[in-house]
Amino acid sequence: MTLLQINHLEKSYGSDTKVLKDVNFSVDAGEFVSIIGSSGAGKSTLLRCINRIVESDNGEILFNGTNVLHLKKKELRKLRTDIGMIFQHYNLVPRLTVIENVLHGRFGYKGTIEGVLGRFTEEEKEKAFYLLAKLGIEEHAYKRCDQLSGGQQQRVGICRALIQDPKLILCDEPIASLDPSSSKVIMDHLKSITRDLGITCIVNLHQVEVALEYSDRIIGLKQGQIIFDGRSVLLRQED
Ligand code: ADP
Ligand code: ADP
Repeated sequence: MTLLQINHLEKSYGSDTKVLKDVNFSVDAGEFVSIIGSSGAGKSTLLRCINRIVESDNGEILFNGTNVLHLKKKELRKLRTDIGMIFQHYNLVPRLTVIENVLHGRFGYKGTIEGVLGRFTEEEKEKAFYLLAKLGIEEHAYKRCDQLSGGQQQRVGICRALIQDPKLILCDEPIASLDPSSSKVIMDHLKSITRDLGITCIVNLHQVEVALEYSDRIIGLKQGQIIFDGRSVLLRQED
């Protein structure tokens, strides 16, 4: 079943050259897809177009059959519940605790950020702890996020994305700020938890080797155009 289908997507910032040029691809439910390309290729812009953080110029983005580009502002909240996001720099609230950051994923950053825990039901808290345990950071639940290592913070970022029960998660260079061993931990977790929960995953990476190791499929982006789209296993055989 197709979860995401992108047709003729185009984007430029201002009147400058196009950052995305006639991008076309689709992703099936349950796939783990890597998008690779050098810095400036348009990977981040592409992910941001999918959840409407960035507005596209032309084309269609069908998510579960609905064109995301036609959604009204007030419908975007639902879209962003269905599509979780993980960032290179984690984008956590540093002075909040781990558990508060995870639960906050449920509300977005509306209202004051004090007293976060009190707004949640026991069931929601249990779910947050379940995810923290899955990611091996339960013991850090009541520490402030700014006391954690980068790899631990990214695991919090994964829990925050997952607590809203997304159908798709978009990961924008999730390991670009991490050392090799933390990168492995993050990629292992991303792969296994999305598989266990049946969540589709698109990961921007700039290391081909990592993409080859973890993804079912690789899309190569260069100067805003898809230059490769295929099963990782085929790319491996070309080595
Ligand atoms: P540049 O010269 O702009 O750095 P490259 O030729 O290195 O561009 O390619 C840009 C990105 O696309 C690189 O990250 C590279 O790994 C990736 N890439 C190049 N060729 C392929 C291919 N056949 N399949 C998948 N990805 C590719
Ligand atoms: P990647 O994620 O592959 O590094 P990006 O999508 O971040 O690529 O960037 C693609 C191109 O768009 C780059 O040339 C970048 O400088 C430009 N760009 C990205 N964001 C903006 C922005 N907000 N305003 C203007 N140009 C931007």
